[in-house]
Amino acid sequence: MEIAELVASKVLDVPDFPKPGIVFKDLMPLFADGPAFAAAIDAIIAVQGVDSFDVVAGIEARGFVVAAAIAYATGRGVVPIRKAGKLPRDTVSASYALEYGEATLEVHADAFMAGERVLLVDDVLATGGTAAATLGLIEQAGGRVSGFSVVLELSFLDGRSRLAPRPVHALLTV
Ligand code: 5GP
Repeated sequence: MEIAELVASKVLDVPDFPKPGIVFKDLMPLFADGPAFAAAIDAIIAVQGVDSFDVVAGIEARGFVVAAAIAYATGRGVVPIRKAGKLPRDTVSASYALEYGEATLEVHADAFMAGERVLLVDDVLATGGTAAATLGLIEQAGGRVSGFSVVLELSFLDGRSRLAPRPVHALLTV
């Protein structure tokens, strides 16, 4: 089975979550299926190239699952990009607009060596606001983003054009 088809078979649509009118894409069935999860992780590594990155960064919280698996499979380390107030030492932070209000993401100020090549991953690309903020954050912290992969891209929200000209790789685009 093609990887996109496999991912599609393991994503559930949850209507009205987290609020009325939103159809949430739930990737837990993919994460819970050992062979399917492994195939998704291997496909991201194959596209990005095992020699293209030094470290893997994942966005809280579902991005941690993807990032940790890629890091383990490739012998790299993992760096968590966290919501504000969760990291214990000096951080750099980036804020971005949500539909209502603002969100802030943080990374430890010493998380990356200067010029270190960082593969950024998350589960879903929606409007691209989270990814745009995180890409800036990684660079602010001294890392160099070598690639950005998500499991699922919601193309109708056009996050990809918000991140242009930076390439976005998605295992499945709907
Ligand atoms: P964005 O900033 O691109 O609008 O939203 C992306 C972030 O919100 C990602 O960190 C992702 O985990 C989460 N997200 C937004 N919509 C969905 C969805 O339908 N399903 C899942 N699993 N995560 C979502």
